[in-house]
Amino acid sequence: MSDDNPLKPSERMKIPRQSSIEQEAAVRLSNFLEVSEGLSEERALLEATRCLECKDPVCVAGCPVSVDIRSFVQLIMKRDYAGAVEKIRETNYLPAVCGRVCPQEEQCEIVCTMGKKHDPVAIGKLERFVADMEIRRGSFTPPPIQKRREQKVAIVGSGPAGLTCAAELARTGYRVTVFEALHAAGGVLRYGIPEFRLPREILDLEIQRVKALEVEIITNFLVGRTATIDELLGEWGFSAVFLATGAGTPQFMGIPGENLSGVYSANEFLTRVNLMKAYRFPEYDTPILLGKEAAVIGGGNTAMDAVRTARRLGAERAYLVYRRSRDEMPARAEEIHHAEEEGIELMLLTNPVRIEGDERNRVSGMVCQKMELGEPDESGRRRPLPVAGSEFTLPVQTVIEAVGQSPNPIIQSTTAGLATGRRGVVNVDGRQGTSKPGVFAGGDLSRGGATVILAMRDGRLAAAAIHQYIQETVLHQPHETSRPAS
Ligand SMILES: Cc1cc2nc3c(=O)[nH]c(=O)nc-3n(C[C@H](O)[C@H](O)[C@H](O)COP(=O)(O)OP(=O)(O)OC[C@H]3O[C@@H](n4cnc5c(N)ncnc54)[C@H](O)[C@@H]3O)c2cc1C
Ligand code: SF4
Repeated sequence: MSDDNPLKPSERMKIPRQSSIEQEAAVRLSNFLEVSEGLSEERALLEATRCLECKDPVCVAGCPVSVDIRSFVQLIMKRDYAGAVEKIRETNYLPAVCGRVCPQEEQCEIVCTMGKKHDPVAIGKLERFVADMEIRRGSFTPPPIQKRREQKVAIVGSGPAGLTCAAELARTGYRVTVFEALHAAGGVLRYGIPEFRLPREILDLEIQRVKALEVEIITNFLVGRTATIDELLGEWGFSAVFLATGAGTPQFMGIPGENLSGVYSANEFLTRVNLMKAYRFPEYDTPILLGKEAAVIGGGNTAMDAVRTARRLGAERAYLVYRRSRDEMPARAEEIHHAEEEGIELMLLTNPVRIEGDERNRVSGMVCQKMELGEPDESGRRRPLPVAGSEFTLPVQTVIEAVGQSPNPIIQSTTAGLATGRRGVVNVDGRQGTSKPGVFAGGDLSRGGATVILAMRDGRLAAAAIHQYIQETVLHQPHETSRPAS
């Protein structure tokens, strides 16, 4: 028990877990504003009071980037919100993003001691609260740079893996340049996750904070075309490269009718909406063909974002078609709950067989069959098996497929000596090193589709490994190759 929290553990356990203030489902269907407003200060203080300040804070071990959760919660108790967010930023440079999109319920909160008998401490909501308080205060002082170093490091891709690695290396003192193929930085945080879960001004601020560490971000630069990895390591004068290009190439089911007008990959659909602002058509010149009835195939976060977006864009009936049961859905429980509140119709144990079109080659329906669960497959989940004679047609005019993605092969195909594995993922060792000296990789590119925080973890690990590589290898080469070209 600390001086700042006079309550006994038994008293803390009586306090209910605090919930966020949210927009009503009926209201939020007509806008793209954030669903959750987060915790009020009063609720955040009450929630922080629930923390048992464990001697062995198991929550820290549950966090992939080892945020010192107990300490930041104690700082909230002291009303030192600036200190709390600084504490988080010691190991997590994107607190406002992670407080919104991290699956805390499977990480720090699932192991929280309070959660053994009661609801766990709402760690994610507290993280978001202090990050938002800092934004409201409008004051931010970048952490100090350890020691200026002349070596340059190139980061390829500006998603959470790239931004984290950039921030870590910049804090260590390296000169860091991030190369991004799109016209704006952020990766999936910008083009995938919709505004109603992650407002763009929040993302922009987090990116500005990375830039405040003197990180340079060059957009519209496709590595593998504009310059190759070997050119970056050669004439461009970079000592090391971190590849964090994600897994942005969509997979399709391979069923008949996928070439009909009105069939999208979730990636294209969400990019049109989020990056090219289709939801503000005709102000933005990005049309989207959306009928009154839309079906999204898949059960993960991407499927959930696509179906909730379709509903907001005017689909009167929006179905989520998933071949397994609710227990196997990879999407966050909170997203499923929000989707149901918004009237999304979950069609579980249902698998599409073919998409049908009209005389203009536009989608007119999707033929599905019912499934039942058999024995576990290689993923450990029970294998869905078709039920004979169960076919039926779902009347839809739009079909959006969210059935997985794999890395874009440009870099792999233009970089000699870069070993790759299944579906083009770049192989890495335990410290994110690739088969090519000086080249490191992480995030979805090496995992083939994971989470924001795991991408950030890879970025941190890679930064430490790159630092060691430069200190132990590059600086000890007889002819220094790391001197900047400029
Ligand atoms: C719709 C959607 C919703 C999601 N929701 C969640 C969620 O709620 N919580 C969660 O934890 N995870 C979620 N995820 C997963 C998470 O977003 C990813 O795991 C994470 O963004 C991966 O980060 P990354 O840095 O590896 O790659 P990305 O975020 O994919 O970033 C890669 C960047 O590299 C750029 N790039 C690619 N090729 C090149 C090149 N050759 N040259 C230069 N730049 C290049 C891309 O344009 C992109 O900006 C979601 C994913 C999607 C698609
Ligand atoms: S495990 Fe839970 S109760 Fe214990 S310190 Fe962490 S957040 Fe607090």
